[in-house]
Amino acid sequence: MSAIIGHIDTLMNYDQSVDYNFFTRNPDFHVDIVKMKEAGIKVAVFAVFVESRYKPFFALQRSVQLIDRFLNLVENSEELELIKDLIDIERVLESNKTGALLALEGGEGIFDESALRIFYRLGVRMISLTWNQRNQLADGIGELETKGGLTLLGKKIIREMEDLGIILDVSHIAPAGFWDIVNITRKPFLASHSNAMSLCKNKRNLDDEQIKAIANTGGLIGINFAPEFLVNNKSADISDVIRHIDYIREVAGIERVVLGTDYDGIQTTPAGLEDLSKLKNLKKELRNNDYSKEEVEKIFLRNWLDFLQRVWR
Ligand SMILES: [Zn+2]
Repeated sequence: MSAIIGHIDTLMNYDQSVDYNFFTRNPDFHVDIVKMKEAGIKVAVFAVFVESRYKPFFALQRSVQLIDRFLNLVENSEELELIKDLIDIERVLESNKTGALLALEGGEGIFDESALRIFYRLGVRMISLTWNQRNQLADGIGELETKGGLTLLGKKIIREMEDLGIILDVSHIAPAGFWDIVNITRKPFLASHSNAMSLCKNKRNLDDEQIKAIANTGGLIGINFAPEFLVNNKSADISDVIRHIDYIREVAGIERVVLGTDYDGIQTTPAGLEDLSKLKNLKKELRNNDYSKEEVEKIFLRNWLDFLQRVWR
């Protein structure tokens, strides 16, 4: 079975271990090419995550370093293919290759529209305006109390992103910015790695109104496998992932549910989903929970493909 996953922090693995090699099996990390093949990954979204110590003054430098790392990975691989448009998607679907889509997690490096266009030319196709902090575009969820939304530059950047065909990701943004986005966007957007707040009270999760608003745009919600986003004060297993899938299906419809994972960006994982190669366990458990073959295929692949068709057409 093929799958698309919406958020991995695998680029950071090179800083965690001098021995990390994406092209061999790596027991200490969630993602490598071997596990991608085992999981049937057709496209994975690689996040450029700028660590807090670089912000704000060295965020652009750090973003450039990580984009270079990503492009080296793709260019030196027979197995990976850079995904920039629907033609690239078609090509990976018809081949044995795995697509790699480049995303920015936090727009600290986007000092104006020229920076955005340069990032686009380097291959960036998805951006979340913030991580948890405040930046020049908007407030992240860590600034919740101050109730700040989009800045004027943030609004301009969103318009330019829509014109270019860069997917807007609302994971990590504070609610005021989320609702500003709902008011100004014309295209579907997504939350690439967030769960349902009604099931797990974590400020990174989405409340029901947010889930419905994303659904109204024809957007997506990518399930995050981090236990702290799945359950309160206990360890998590596959059934907790399925509870969130059930819930979002109920509130927003099956077409809106996809897999984010957040692999290599999370410290612990639910039992049964210890790394990317275990994704088949989730498929099996969904089938055991009366999800039809078609529904499972939607969550794993089809919903993503439909979304990309609508955003990039
Ligand atoms: Zn994140």
